[in-house]
Amino acid sequence: MNEANQKKRIAIFGSTGSIGTQALDVVRAHSEIFEVEILTAQANAELLISQALEFMPNAVVIGNEEKFKEVKEALSDKGIKVFCGEKALEEVADFDTYDLMLAAIVGFAGLRPTLKAVEKGKTVALANKETLVVAGDIVMQKAVENRAPIIPVDSEHSAVFQCLLGEARNPINKVILTASGGPFLGKKPNFLVNVKRDHALQHPNWSMGAKISVDSATLMNKGLEMIEAKWLFNLKPKQIEVVIHPQSIIHSMVEFADGSVKAQLGLPDMKLPIQYALSFPQRINNDFPKLNFKKANALTFEEPDLRTFRNLGLAMDALHKGGNLPCILNAANEIAVWAFLKNRIGFLDITAVVERTMEVIPFIENPSLEDYFYSDGEARNFAATLLQIE
Ligand code: NAD
Ligand code: MG
Repeated sequence: MNEANQKKRIAIFGSTGSIGTQALDVVRAHSEIFEVEILTAQANAELLISQALEFMPNAVVIGNEEKFKEVKEALSDKGIKVFCGEKALEEVADFDTYDLMLAAIVGFAGLRPTLKAVEKGKTVALANKETLVVAGDIVMQKAVENRAPIIPVDSEHSAVFQCLLGEARNPINKVILTASGGPFLGKKPNFLVNVKRDHALQHPNWSMGAKISVDSATLMNKGLEMIEAKWLFNLKPKQIEVVIHPQSIIHSMVEFADGSVKAQLGLPDMKLPIQYALSFPQRINNDFPKLNFKKANALTFEEPDLRTFRNLGLAMDALHKGGNLPCILNAANEIAVWAFLKNRIGFLDITAVVERTMEVIPFIENPSLEDYFYSDGEARNFAATLLQIE
């Protein structure tokens, strides 16, 4: 807390993205509770500058070094410290002057700064699921050692987290993650083979960044979320199920030992789990549209089609086998999704690249952090060679 005014000081890593900008909407609406201490962005200097001028943080980081001069010139006479480059993310994550990090960088790039915040014992509101997919054992171990609370932002995990409050001593049978099914629900490979970038980016229920939108279309996102759930809630792989729920009203469920099921419901709006993670343990008012059961359509459920959406099966394999396999899966997927977004490969090629990379990169059963970085690099290089995009 800022001792002078009792506000929670927030560091938003990835402030120009979909989660980052929605988090700033929440902060703007509750300036009596929150203040912004750090903002970071990779390339969008213009938006970072305008965010900084509005929220007046102590420090900002621009990842792309070519944009440093522009950001520095715009902000340094305002008393805002300006840093650039990858290393600076870890350096500002090491600051004492913030209370909560919102980890909203996309992909593996979020791991190091998030780990730094955990090592400092900071509260982490975690959107960057790749951090737990890659190195969940190490991140959770360090969180325990340093008493760093990790509050999930991902809507499914926020739902499970809320269902588990007050149930610390009660055994869980299983966690049921809901999936909308994405834009290609019900489609078959003969359709998917021709799918293009713009089509894959049209999610029916959520508006998100490009990478997670493609992951939602391939169902890789749900596989990553199963791995995320394993680490967040200390579950065995067989305790984690996925059900397709196209309306995205039930955000996930927990079945307890007695067979009772708890669920968390709401309209599909990421501002809700973002606000909850920032304000936890309090719940605070907002003007978001509320769920109206009298107008709600039927809530329906179905099995995921694992034959068509093979990425989900690959992620389940990684979940069950563990070791560095989730890290390899994640790295290959990041490369393949990037290539798909550049229109260099087809939609179904994403699965082929991930599958082949998982077969080739050596398995390590008990990886160290260095092993994870090494496996990530190896998997990226191999996937890039497959795609001839070195
Ligand atoms: P996005 O692409 O919209 O934003 C990503 C942010 O990270 C941007 O601020 C960007 O500048 C920054 N960034 C990108 N590459 C970087 C790099 N190499 N180094 C440092 N910063 C970098 O992504 P998003 O949709 O906001 O997703 C962010 C994270 O939240 C992802 O891990 C995603 O899986 C997770 N998530 C997102 C949603 C959603 O609704 N968007 C929902 C659940 C979870
Ligand atoms: Mg999710």
